[in-house]
Amino acid sequence: MDREALWSSLGLDLEAHAALLEALGPLYQEVYLSQENRPRGMAYFDAVVADIHGARVAELLQIREAGRPVVGTFCVFVPEEIVWAAGGACVGLCAGVEVATERVEEVLPRNLCPLIKAFFGFKLARLCPYMEVCHFLVGETTCDGKKKAYEIFEAYKPIYVMQVPHRKDEESLKLWIAEVERFLRYMEEFTGESISAEALREAIELINRRRRALKRLNELRRFDPPPISGRDVLLIHQLSFFDDPERFTRKLEELCAELEERVSAGEGVCPAGTPRVVISGCPMAIPNWKVAHLVESSGAVIVGEESCVGTRYTRELVRVSENSKEGLLRALAERYFRIDCAIFTPNPERPAHLKEMVRDLSAAGVIHYALKFCDPYTIEAYRIEKDSAVPVLKIETDYSLEDREQLRTRIEAFLEVLR
Ligand code: SF4
Ligand code: SF4
Repeated sequence: MDREALWSSLGLDLEAHAALLEALGPLYQEVYLSQENRPRGMAYFDAVVADIHGARVAELLQIREAGRPVVGTFCVFVPEEIVWAAGGACVGLCAGVEVATERVEEVLPRNLCPLIKAFFGFKLARLCPYMEVCHFLVGETTCDGKKKAYEIFEAYKPIYVMQVPHRKDEESLKLWIAEVERFLRYMEEFTGESISAEALREAIELINRRRRALKRLNELRRFDPPPISGRDVLLIHQLSFFDDPERFTRKLEELCAELEERVSAGEGVCPAGTPRVVISGCPMAIPNWKVAHLVESSGAVIVGEESCVGTRYTRELVRVSENSKEGLLRALAERYFRIDCAIFTPNPERPAHLKEMVRDLSAAGVIHYALKFCDPYTIEAYRIEKDSAVPVLKIETDYSLEDREQLRTRIEAFLEVLR
């Protein structure tokens, strides 16, 4: 199907959508294609971005037309393995750019996290083919902004909401296991078919393989010089939420093999001794590349992302010890329960994980990245800074480019401290 026909069949606003894609080209050129000495294996990911609303959307439409479920999510708490086990496809919807602000602010308060405003904007302005191709979305009661916004959002798109507990004790784990089972039953009712233990095990292995490949990529950044830029790794993480998991994992494994050769040859993406930085905080959904680009174009290299678009997504695998359906579901629920999102209280795991990352990646500093009006992360930034063994720069920003020069000045001053 040609692209226009595809987007039209999904009910997109074709004119506004064309303008959105047109703006993406020059931005991608500036942030990505202008980088020097990129690995050859990035060509696959560049091609995915060049056709970002095309080939994969067409694949998802085929899955939908074959009578299988297509499900969208906004949070790494949703156990996507259940969707794959139900014979469906799961897509992590992007919310990394400001769109249709005036229309969004007719519905939502102005002072709200830009990520929440972005997914509303995409829907209200009919700009996201991924959202339109989904049968329904799965939300979660993580932060207040999201859980209240979903109450309104369901007027525009069917949304199933999972209850995420905010403490990490035995009672909360029981509640979460029950929630994961409830979601499995919901998927079974949706498809009219029972999910077998075998299908669940295969889906767990599929997503474990993808997470393992991302871990392999992240571990290669321990070397000095690192074989790949932080911007490229951020992009790969962002695309992992969209792409077909088998193909994505295969392409990423090929890239990792190339990066291992680079490491053996002592080749890197920047000179050895370049200041190494870890980014920590809120997720950076595609195409939110602002801070990563500012940091790396100011003479540093990002070697890790303590983020849901980063190691918060890849750190934990599902540890299967029992092959019954109940045993697999429990292992799945336990894996998700180990996520160290700032919505938990208390949340000592997150500063501890960050410390490990700083040590393992030999980072000289941390940039704490919080989206404006995100209470969980802006408040937790205090603890992150207090517990850190290296200097921390705290940034609060949104998706606009208005503060770009101001941020650049602060980042450059911070990097001077690290040199
Ligand atoms: S930061 Fe928390 S709420 Fe946001 S995507 Fe990650 S786990 Fe979900
Ligand atoms: S960035 Fe913060 S406020 Fe925004 S959706 Fe995530 S947890 Fe909620």
